Amino acid sequence: METQHDTISIMVVDDEKDIQEGCERILTRMGCRVVTASRGEEALHILKHEPVSIVLLDLMMPGIGGMEVLQRIRKIDDQILVIVITGYATIDTAIEAMKQGAYDFIPKPFTPDQLRIRVERALEKLQLTREAEKLDRERRKTLADLDTEKSRIRTILESLPSGVVVTNSQGQVALMNPAFLLHLGLDPERSPGDPIEAYVPDQGFCNLVLELSQGKHVNPDDLPTYEFVLHGEKHFQARGRPVQGEEMEYQGAVVVLEDITALKVLDQVKSEFVAKVSHELRSPLSTIHEQLAMVLGEMVGDESKNDQYILARAKEKTHGLISLIGDLLDLSRIEAGIVHQEPKPVRLEELLKSIVDFLGTRAKGRRQAVILELSENRFPLFTADPMVLESIFGNLITNAINYTPDGGEVKISAGFNEKSMHVTVKDNGFGIEARHLEQIFERFYRVKDEKTRYITGTGLGLPIVKGLLDSLGGTISVQSTPGKGSAFTVLLPVQEPSETLPAQP
Ligand code: ADP
Repeated sequence: METQHDTISIMVVDDEKDIQEGCERILTRMGCRVVTASRGEEALHILKHEPVSIVLLDLMMPGIGGMEVLQRIRKIDDQILVIVITGYATIDTAIEAMKQGAYDFIPKPFTPDQLRIRVERALEKLQLTREAEKLDRERRKTLADLDTEKSRIRTILESLPSGVVVTNSQGQVALMNPAFLLHLGLDPERSPGDPIEAYVPDQGFCNLVLELSQGKHVNPDDLPTYEFVLHGEKHFQARGRPVQGEEMEYQGAVVVLEDITALKVLDQVKSEFVAKVSHELRSPLSTIHEQLAMVLGEMVGDESKNDQYILARAKEKTHGLISLIGDLLDLSRIEAGIVHQEPKPVRLEELLKSIVDFLGTRAKGRRQAVILELSENRFPLFTADPMVLESIFGNLITNAINYTPDGGEVKISAGFNEKSMHVTVKDNGFGIEARHLEQIFERFYRVKDEKTRYITGTGLGLPIVKGLLDSLGGTISVQSTPGKGSAFTVLLPVQEPSETLPAQP
């Protein structure tokens, strides 16, 4: 079976008609397209217009000599394979032709097989060259693609408005984008390579980067966030992830840095606005409340019961508004960091006793028992504004009373060890479903179900408690079972002895 070379064009250049036709026949049978020319000029003319891969060139022709034609063909396209046809006596010419770049030669006269063998060889060479070229093109394309991909990623990184920093597992910076340098006020030309501490003057941030680089915080649902202030003016929020290699080993961290200064300023303006409005509303509302109380007190029996009811409702509402305003002002003060106005050493056990006495009276009206259990008679002194501590425990115990049905029980137990003091306010009331537990510490969040719908409140008590505890370095946690009750536990740090007064006799 003969190989098919239908895309290959071969030109036969010979002034002898018999040879031309003989070659054409053989080559066509081999599956090639054949063009013929009788003279060198004609051959060169055809080459300019038609793609030809192989030329069979007789060196002995009238007109321009075969050698010259060979040279010109090489000039037109040096990929063309030229097989020269030589006479017996012209071996030297054949060698010369090979030196001039001919691919092969075939002496005259030749048999069809001799021609076929030479042409087959040339075709194979062509095939190999084409494959090599194809491979080379593909390799170049892959390289070009990779290059484009790389520069695309670089462009994206460089255009990102958020700062991006990538470190290795030792916390050394491997890459920073321009926004990162800009955020930190660093030289735009600053190069990576140093430990993260050399770029960011915030230890908390550097610790986060180091922890991430070494494979901490791997849970994708719980990516750590860290906020910090630089030079007292710019607020930043950082979020990051560890970078893992193919074998899941930790190779470093990638951290995104956002400038949240504008948000912080807005938040502050909002707080100031709320504080101002609340402050302005408090006095007129208190006046209305007192006046309503007065009118109600003066009402005598002959007035219509309906008027009395309306006025009593109005008084109740103004009372609700006044306590909302009180809570808002407290929150503003906490946010502005002005909570500890008169810090002094406080005896926690005494403070708890007085709150329990005060609120216990209120609970009695609802046949509730408020019990205080102290593990020790004397607690370590705690230096803080007593109003702050009263607000924390007052809020928790009031909630326990409010969200427990008549006849229930509220138990406050307190104790301490060398590190912290703990107070648990436990009730056997309505309890809170697990899905609300995170949110009850958010501003204005209130659980509204059949049992709690009619209990008035602002949803600001627990955020206040949380804010105050933050300012004291304390924490709060909650455990609750719907229908059984809740337990809020406060932890306060035991302060250094230098901060406390000597125990009183
Ligand atoms: P408020 O009591 O003014 O609504 P809080 O911030 O103090 O606001 O409490 C938020 C919500 O948490 C309450 O609305 C209530 O649903 C729930 N909650 C707080 N304490 C308790 C408790 N001891 N038992 C049951 N639910 C509670």
